[in-house]
Amino acid sequence: MNIKSIKTKLYVWKGPVKTADTIFATPVSLLPFQTDAQAPYRFFSWLVVEVETTDGHVGIGNAGLCPDVTKLIVDTRLAPLLIGESPLHTEYLYEKMYRSTVAYGRKGAVMAAISALDIALWDIKGQVMQQPVFMLLGGRTKEYIPSYYSRLYTRNLDDLQAEASHYKSLGFKGMKLRCGYPLTDGLAGMKKNVEMVRLVRETVGDDVDVMLEAYMGFNFPYAKRLLQELEPYNLRWVEELLLPDEIHLFNKLKQYTAIPLSGGEHEYGHFGFYDLVKADALDIFQFDTNRVGGFTQAQKICTLAYNEGIEIIPHGGQMHNLHVVMSSFASPMAEYFPKTEIEVGNELFWYIFNGEAVAEDGNLQLDDKKPGMGLTLKTTDLRNFTIIQ
Ligand SMILES: [Mg+2]
Repeated sequence: MNIKSIKTKLYVWKGPVKTADTIFATPVSLLPFQTDAQAPYRFFSWLVVEVETTDGHVGIGNAGLCPDVTKLIVDTRLAPLLIGESPLHTEYLYEKMYRSTVAYGRKGAVMAAISALDIALWDIKGQVMQQPVFMLLGGRTKEYIPSYYSRLYTRNLDDLQAEASHYKSLGFKGMKLRCGYPLTDGLAGMKKNVEMVRLVRETVGDDVDVMLEAYMGFNFPYAKRLLQELEPYNLRWVEELLLPDEIHLFNKLKQYTAIPLSGGEHEYGHFGFYDLVKADALDIFQFDTNRVGGFTQAQKICTLAYNEGIEIIPHGGQMHNLHVVMSSFASPMAEYFPKTEIEVGNELFWYIFNGEAVAEDGNLQLDDKKPGMGLTLKTTDLRNFTIIQ
């Protein structure tokens, strides 16, 4: 059995988008003259790869990061490396893709493209072995996967309170809000960010974890002061306070706060995470399997993290991350982007795939009997997409 063909499909959303109330700090927020700091970080398209074998298996992978660029990389650079190879040799094929692109790759779009293909190869491996991917990675380590509700984009305090209260009532044991006010709003903005945290904490009480997303939007002095202000609210973590390259500053921040620091959503490969470990930069790693180098890298990073007492709580929900969470003792829970109208792009996957796990009482379940990733592509209700092949 060899790889016969690789198809790439770019799903571009053409339907309605609700953006008015989704304001949060980003790395661009620190720059002057910015009217819309979210713009570079909203994405309304998604890449799907389909890897077909000579005996008729089709593995599905995906990449959400700059999918138009990722498509080009798969089509022109990576697919030719895989055609004719056995899809089961995932370790070798990862190294072949990584080492063939290392001069211009290593991180970012190239690693997202490699990730999409690696996920598809593991999907094939599961189909061939007639086992779900999590069984191949280590099997079941939990009865179910606890998940935390990840949205709370609004800066309107009444709406924020109502949303937090509603999702607590649905059974979620954790929820994450965003820093609605960027660094350029100064001390007044910081107070409003803290006020949003206080409101959510008071709304959900002490039995629900509260987390704060900073999306790389701040610098060291602001982050240090913000952490001081947040100390009373018993946060489960504060996420991506700084740029992913400011590894040494994360370590400095850790000296000042008892609040766990998380990140790694924009870090790549086991080499990248080894640098984070060596610098003692973070308490929680949040790679996304569809960026970090697929299951082949995710598995290695889980081991690294376990050695160091670092938790793995991947970015995004989606099946590729749930298989990792289910099979790793280092991973206590998953993120859950609820299915909503299209807002920032995180929700798009619900409209592309069948088979994504839906939270019940805040928990997610995987089927022991569904081979591979357990996903298929939707064939109906696609009128709001343009699909570019
Ligand atoms: Mg994040």
